[in-house]
Amino acid sequence: MLAYTYVSPGNFQLLDKPKPTLLHPRDAIVRVTLGSICTSDLHIKHGSVPRAVPGITVGHEMVGIVEDVGAQVTSVHPGDRVTVNVETFCGECFFCRNGWVNNCTDPNGGWALGCRIDGGQAEYVRVPYADQGLNRIPHSVTDEQALFVGDVLATGYWAGDISRIKAEDTVLILGAGPTGLCTLQCVRLKNPKRIIVCDRDPSRLDFVRRHYPDTLTAAPEGLEAFVRSNSDHGGADVVLEVAGAPETFRLAWACARPNAVVTIVALYGGPQLLPLPDMYGKNLTFQTGGVDGCHCAQTLELIVQGKIDTTPLITHRFPLRQIEEAYRIFEHRLDGVIKVAVDCT
Ligand SMILES: [Zn+2]
Ligand SMILES: [Zn+2]
Repeated sequence: MLAYTYVSPGNFQLLDKPKPTLLHPRDAIVRVTLGSICTSDLHIKHGSVPRAVPGITVGHEMVGIVEDVGAQVTSVHPGDRVTVNVETFCGECFFCRNGWVNNCTDPNGGWALGCRIDGGQAEYVRVPYADQGLNRIPHSVTDEQALFVGDVLATGYWAGDISRIKAEDTVLILGAGPTGLCTLQCVRLKNPKRIIVCDRDPSRLDFVRRHYPDTLTAAPEGLEAFVRSNSDHGGADVVLEVAGAPETFRLAWACARPNAVVTIVALYGGPQLLPLPDMYGKNLTFQTGGVDGCHCAQTLELIVQGKIDTTPLITHRFPLRQIEEAYRIFEHRLDGVIKVAVDCT
């Protein structure tokens, strides 16, 4: 089968590999129908994910059809159309029982697919702990509607859920890339008084205004003053930092009002400066990143109800054979791309 592979830093190749087989009674084999490319794949390509294992098939955003299941798998059956969760988790350890599945203590717990074990930019993928990692897609939901449920949308849902958003709040979202836009949809479910989205790319702010006209948009320049004059208590009540740059990390705490919640959603390429003397007395609550992606059934239900729709994020479509070109467009942000759907059939 064809599998897009992390050969060495800077070098991904579409290789012919053997089809995966069941290795454990809790595994499932999924025939991938649609996959996507995530910024984290680019982080692997450029060597900023030290845990990534050369030789693995990349890709951790996908939907497909269950082909085979191990003897202990009970929740899905061959023929089921499913979302695949980016995270591998046992469902039984201390962290899983608390819903902190990102920190599952299994040796492959957390982000393993397409990083430490073979992922899904391929025709088939083996999914460990299939009862946890797969969710059946309702009949009324298309593959494109479900494509982001296991990764970027899971991240947006998690971020919105842990940020303690209240009806009177002004919420600032830094970054309007794919994860920022999923975060925006999930923050909207909480009905805060105001949402401000900041991005330096005018076309992304334009996208936000077109799809969510009640959302305020702003560029990073002058953002602190903009947030002060568009909030009730001298700054944002809740900030979600989704962009992942040193400047956006600074803006996250600088735009927050005293006693605000600052949720770090982004994955940074390096350490960030936390100038504690400058923020003394602000009494901020920081939450550091790492999606607990165990609410896929809820997000699928929200898609059924029409409350979440991430299909406008899919701006480009390619067959698996042309995945090099899909990467080129996604990586260099060409042609107005937001997300790419890769047909793996
Ligand atoms: Zn991802
Ligand atoms: Zn666990």
